[in-house]
Amino acid sequence: MDSVNENCAAEVSALLAPLPIFQEQEYFKELIANRRCNGIEVKHNSTNGKGVYANSEFQEDELILKDQILVGIQHSSNKVDCLVCSFCFRFIGSIEKQIGRKLYFKNLGVSSCCDGVSSESEDDNKCMKYNGNEEQCGGSSSNHNSLPQEVVSSLMNNEIALPFTDKFPLPSPLWCPGGCQEVFYCSESCAKADWESSHSLLCTGEKSESRSREALGEFIEHVNDTNDIFLLAAKAIAFTILRYRKLKADHVNEKAKQTEPKQSLLLEAWKPISIGYKRRWWDCIALPDDVDPSGEGAFRMQIKSLASTSLEHLKKAIFDKECEALFSLEIYGNIIGMFELNNLDLVVASPVEDYFLYINDLPDAEKEEAMEITKPILDALDDEYSDFCEGTAFFPLQSCMNHSCCPNAKAFKRDEDRDGQAVISALRRISKNEEVTISYIDEELPYKERQASLADYGFTCNCPKCLQDSSSVA
Ligand SMILES: [Zn+2]
Ligand SMILES: [Zn+2]
Ligand SMILES: [Zn+2]
Repeated sequence: MDSVNENCAAEVSALLAPLPIFQEQEYFKELIANRRCNGIEVKHNSTNGKGVYANSEFQEDELILKDQILVGIQHSSNKVDCLVCSFCFRFIGSIEKQIGRKLYFKNLGVSSCCDGVSSESEDDNKCMKYNGNEEQCGGSSSNHNSLPQEVVSSLMNNEIALPFTDKFPLPSPLWCPGGCQEVFYCSESCAKADWESSHSLLCTGEKSESRSREALGEFIEHVNDTNDIFLLAAKAIAFTILRYRKLKADHVNEKAKQTEPKQSLLLEAWKPISIGYKRRWWDCIALPDDVDPSGEGAFRMQIKSLASTSLEHLKKAIFDKECEALFSLEIYGNIIGMFELNNLDLVVASPVEDYFLYINDLPDAEKEEAMEITKPILDALDDEYSDFCEGTAFFPLQSCMNHSCCPNAKAFKRDEDRDGQAVISALRRISKNEEVTISYIDEELPYKERQASLADYGFTCNCPKCLQDSSSVA
């Protein structure tokens, strides 16, 4: 029973209707101006829908766009590997703390393992299990080189300093101002921005603005047992509710204005998300290899019912009558589907890797001295020192970039790009009015494998390389 749908079916369909093109154009114009990436524009074409086009010429390696995250999460399985700011995903703490935490969780036998419903790719959406029983998780092995627990604790608590870590300073972690002790930030401004964007509704701490912290806890528990894509969907809903409340407050303050119906404010609040969704999750999720095609219908029903359970938990936690339409299963399915279908990897390189590379490149005498201290740590880490921060995020402009197997641009972080923003640079010269394309997949794969991977994104590629390959295959 989707009772929300019955109450506000009209509102739900208004939210799901495509944005009028002129409104969409206006939205992107503003976004591009805010991002100060005036070399591009978002345009519609009849075959591919939205696309990003060059407004001016770009040279090889030139920066095209830095796109900020609208909503994003670090994968729960990645949290044991990297301590990052919950808003900008920059590494925080210190090199010692990053290493100490990782060894601490390693000694506890925490590992990422897959159960429940996982989605398309291997690394995504794994659940995290805290348990001492390593046999349960195939991936972990007992660690013969472990450091004494005291050393690990001292590292974690910044009580010992490793050589040369002063060359790699990281911001001190700030606790969540809501008191949840579950998320950390690199700065006051990130803490504030996250609170205002979505965390005030999703915080389990005492200052939480959710309806029920207990229900929120249950929602999060369900996320951890199933799929962290639900947390991202919850962030998108919380983001829209908070935006709605802010628009409403601004509107009330401007008393001179005539009162508009509440639906238009909700539509306005929803606009940043509305540009992203395409299809419902249970319709678009790729059938896992271990599901027989004859079981497809049952599989999709199961996915839908999983989303429905998650939504019930979320409703108890943050329901807002004025934004009731956001809590329909139809909307929830479309939001999750948008994270499933867009190219949304969030990756931030680890400063711990840079640190060990730096030690390795020291002049011999210094290196030898430093290695006396760092070698046992490297051994204890089993060489797992280069783990990136990994997650999923929605980048409003990057998500408009169409795929090509011979792209002219790519998402590539430079040395100075130390947070979760998407950085897109030109792979070759791009001329004015040319479409900017990136590759969603490994474009070196053979034709058939490329098309199979792209089918998960819901389209057939007709790029020049594919057209050529298809004629030679046929
Ligand atoms: Zn931050
Ligand atoms: Zn919090
Ligand atoms: Zn192609």
